[in-house]
Amino acid sequence: MKEFVRTISDYPVKGIQFRDITTLLQNSKHFEKVIDEMTEPWQNTTIDAILSIESRGFIMAGAIAYKLKTAFVPLRKPDKLPGPTFKVSYTLEYGSTEMHIHKDALYDHKNLLIIDDLLATGGTALAAVDLINKFPNKNIVGAGFIINLPELGGQKKLENIGIKIHTLMEF
Ligand code: AMP
Repeated sequence: MKEFVRTISDYPVKGIQFRDITTLLQNSKHFEKVIDEMTEPWQNTTIDAILSIESRGFIMAGAIAYKLKTAFVPLRKPDKLPGPTFKVSYTLEYGSTEMHIHKDALYDHKNLLIIDDLLATGGTALAAVDLINKFPNKNIVGAGFIINLPELGGQKKLENIGIKIHTLMEF
């Protein structure tokens, strides 16, 4: 499926090779295969909720949560969640931002899976981990992505803190 990911150079800023998943997901068979393959490794794991990162993560996470019969919890950019939130600041491969979660989002969810489209430096996924750590007694069962950019070091950072990674392809 790797050939269906479009690469756009110098987007959104000079020097970035942007991996565009829209060209993969716009084909129904490929979308189904992406969801099936992202779901498969977690079939026999106890998961209470999937936490996903705005906005491209949501595309896969809702479908995976439906298949695994788990709850879905959004991690969002500032000023998007209407209720009281916890927040963390973090840096991206390009730029920096904040991530928020509703304070009451994980009330009875212990075993958590993180889903996003792409793992680069790991800053985004680590921000998700920092947000989860604001709640007591949570267990991160793993993190799943379509794309891994191993040279940017995110995989190593997550594995170093004991988080199991699953990805479908590497660039
Ligand atoms: P990072 O925090 O560096 O691991 O970056 C991962 C997040 O930024 C994901 O949510 C991606 O959607 C986005 N991202 C970072 N680098 C790229 C890239 N080269 N192509 C597409 N999306 C990217």
